[in-house]
Amino acid sequence: MADRPTASIVGGGPAGLIAAEKLARDGFAVTVFEHKPSVGRKFLLAGRGGLNLTHTEPFDEFVAHYDATGWMAPLLATFGPDDLRAWSAGLGEDTFVGSSGRVFPASFRATPLLRAWLRRLDELGVVFATRHRWRGWGDEGAHRFAGPDGSEFDVVADATVMALGGASWPRVGSDGGWVSVFESAGITVTSLRPANAGVVVDWSAAFAERFAGQPVKNVAVSVGGAAVDGDERSDVRGDVMVTTSGLEGGPVYAVGREVRAELDASGGCTLMIDLHPDQTVEQLTERLAKRRPKDSVTTWLRRSLGLHLVAVNLIREAVGARLPADPGRMAELVKRVPLSIVGSMPIDRAISTAGGVALDELDGDLMLRRRPGTFVAGEMIDWEAPTGGYLLQASFSTGVVAARGASKWSRGGREPSRSLTDDDR
Ligand SMILES: Cc1cc2nc3c(=O)[nH]c(=O)nc-3n(C[C@H](O)[C@H](O)[C@H](O)COP(=O)(O)OP(=O)(O)OC[C@H]3O[C@@H](n4cnc5c(N)ncnc54)[C@H](O)[C@@H]3O)c2cc1C
Repeated sequence: MADRPTASIVGGGPAGLIAAEKLARDGFAVTVFEHKPSVGRKFLLAGRGGLNLTHTEPFDEFVAHYDATGWMAPLLATFGPDDLRAWSAGLGEDTFVGSSGRVFPASFRATPLLRAWLRRLDELGVVFATRHRWRGWGDEGAHRFAGPDGSEFDVVADATVMALGGASWPRVGSDGGWVSVFESAGITVTSLRPANAGVVVDWSAAFAERFAGQPVKNVAVSVGGAAVDGDERSDVRGDVMVTTSGLEGGPVYAVGREVRAELDASGGCTLMIDLHPDQTVEQLTERLAKRRPKDSVTTWLRRSLGLHLVAVNLIREAVGARLPADPGRMAELVKRVPLSIVGSMPIDRAISTAGGVALDELDGDLMLRRRPGTFVAGEMIDWEAPTGGYLLQASFSTGVVAARGASKWSRGGREPSRSLTDDDR
């Protein structure tokens, strides 16, 4: 026992816990440091929406959903969707494939999976130091923690994996407090921004009051002049939800990067909403041409196109009360409703975080080049992906890669390898 190598895992989310599992299996005496009273809180929160673990699409298509495909592909290949499904099954949670290829645990919840996982980690001898907050680096590579009573102490381990998460939903633990510490240590961190976040729309009071909480079903969303190509980008199609302050939902999240760029460039952004993505302008024009003389605009749109009241009023919010009477012009409008966006929802309401430890700071094993022996994993690295299982999958994959690197490092004491970005970007 005494001569087992030691590993510190900092952060008890999925990236940290899978790293703990791998290192414990590799013979390390592992301690997980977590500043909350319990681990896996965001994982449990994700479980409230069904816990979309990963996705079944072909690997090339899967990888294409990440913003930094080049460096992410080999990491995902190391521990990919099939590995994650097998891991879940090994914990007693078989997975099933839901709509559009998304993968969920059979129970559709995170609690049974986390419970079984923590039991397994316990059997592997992993020690949990909860209510321990990482404060930074101490002397000679030590990591400094504040314990439950606030007193600080240093820990030196043979290998350390940090998986402190991003900055969304800070009340479940990941509050981005590590960013300033990393920056003080000279490590570049790309600023943390909301990802998979809703957009803010300046609704009229009447619209917000009447329609907040209602979905606008089966739409396709694009930004500004970009064409909606629903066949190529299935993620921009689906239902969006009206909220009191804007719009939420997968299709909105999917164009988040473009929305952010437009907002940064000009302070505003126009979302183009296609209310009938399965029909062409010509087909809609033909249907709209059959208007009965007494039909109001609302009745006309509802009878001819089957639009719900919320969708009809969304058009009015976008372009005003006077709508075209010409079937062709109305069909064009239905295909491209120009909705003005005034901002993104704040990061504490976002599903995930863009930005993080800059890729140039990492080597191919996810070791910090300025802090040899410290590896990073999960959402704290600068990568971004839409919802659909891509976030958890990358958190697991990077956790496995960092653990493998940490194991190799502590046994071999090798030099940092090339930067992650040397090959791929
Ligand atoms: C509402 C919601 C639903 C989601 N649903 C899905 C989904 O269905 N599918 C999907 O793929 N993804 C989903 N996600 C995203 C997914 O949960 C995250 O991508 C994932 O949890 C990131 O894992 P992580 O281990 O990198 O970070 P986290 O899970 O955030 O874990 C980081 C851990 O580090 C701890 N920590 C932070 N700072 C310190 C410190 N200084 N000292 C000690 N400990 C610290 C935190 O308390 C936390 O436990 C969802 C997210 C949200 C908010």
